[in-house]
Amino acid sequence: GRDVKSFLKRNWILIATIASVLLGISLGLLVREYASLSQLEKQYFGFPGEILMRMLKLVILPLIISSMITGVAALDSEVSGRIGLRAVIYYFSTTIIAVILGIVLVTTIKPGVSQTADSIDRAGTTPNVTTVDTLLDLVRNMFPENLVQACFQQNLTKDYTLVGTYSDGINVLGLIVFCVAFGLVIGKMGERGRILLEFFDALNEATMRLVQIIMCYMPLGILFLIAAKIIEVEDWDIFRKMGLYMATVLSGLAIHAIVFLPLIYLALVRKNPYTFALGMAQALVTALMISSSSATLPVTFRCAEENNRIDKRITRFVLPVGATINMDGTALYEAVAAIFIAQLNGLDLDVGKIVTISITATVASIGAAGVPNAGLVTMVIVLTAVGLPASDVTLIVAVDWLIDRFRTMINVLGDAYGAGIVQKLSKRELERMDITSDVDVANP
Ligand code: ASP
Repeated sequence: GRDVKSFLKRNWILIATIASVLLGISLGLLVREYASLSQLEKQYFGFPGEILMRMLKLVILPLIISSMITGVAALDSEVSGRIGLRAVIYYFSTTIIAVILGIVLVTTIKPGVSQTADSIDRAGTTPNVTTVDTLLDLVRNMFPENLVQACFQQNLTKDYTLVGTYSDGINVLGLIVFCVAFGLVIGKMGERGRILLEFFDALNEATMRLVQIIMCYMPLGILFLIAAKIIEVEDWDIFRKMGLYMATVLSGLAIHAIVFLPLIYLALVRKNPYTFALGMAQALVTALMISSSSATLPVTFRCAEENNRIDKRITRFVLPVGATINMDGTALYEAVAAIFIAQLNGLDLDVGKIVTISITATVASIGAAGVPNAGLVTMVIVLTAVGLPASDVTLIVAVDWLIDRFRTMINVLGDAYGAGIVQKLSKRELERMDITSDVDVANP
């Protein structure tokens, strides 16, 4: 009896969130069936969900700034360099694994072979993006010319609505680069730097308390978010036509999440990977519901630190960067979708083209911002690289609202495992620091 009670008490938000997902789906289906809402009424219906999204996005800015600066300043530069390197190696290798898995699946299942591009209705408009521009923009964004502007600037160029790691108007990559540099400098200033470090540490704690309040509202917000989405979807028939393609992407994501990532975690950390994943449950459900790694970041932090007890010096460093550049789910999706479109067009893929797809899919996943449908836009890079018309992304637009959710969930899971793995690999450095430093600002 007491066990059940304490379990419920500890996990009520998660339980309420899952219940609200189910309730929201039922409510959505009911309203769809029995009421025909006008466009305006649909918008009103989604209002509580809209408020949730606004609150989550609201805390991203103070969260990223305070966690990156304290994360870097609390470590000495040599240690943070080594932790950063480990994180990057992890991001890169798991992304490549995801891409290869996707390619193997899509070339075996061949979801596009029995159809032609003409048999699927095209939807939406074509964005205009090239590989070189994406790469240049990526680097350009690392050096924002104005710090204040980097906090709300919309786009560099007109067409770049989603490319270039802008998350809802925040130049996340640029802020990360600045905060790393700033944190390193503060860390080297000794006593004089302490006041800044303490300021940002307090800011971080205050932000996390706000996150805790937002999470209480989450079940209600999610209920209406998912219900509104279900009411809004127009074309259910497309799922029949695209069934095999969707099954390929989803099974790839599932294999990556249930087999590959856990195996890597098990091999390196030697703890139960599924217990770890369970600890991240609230973040995973959130990602599934809101299709955005950046907006999920506050929840990812809480789960990683509170449930999985990952050292703050690691999460503050690894999670924001991961949410921006480490997207296993997106990379897998890019590879599968590109080859699917090639199959629809009857295009033969030689080894050279497959290698091109692997590389561009990786770039496209790094370049995609952690916002809804970002991967769909950077998809254009992959298509143009193998000579397919960029306009063919319109073939897969109609199902992206569903696939996006699942790949975002895998993106977040990959970041979380990354934090767990980097912590384990950096154990010795962290312990050494615990002994030498007198006051531990990151973990008071
Ligand atoms: N929505 C994804 C994310 O936020 C990015 C994508 O569209 O693939 O992680």
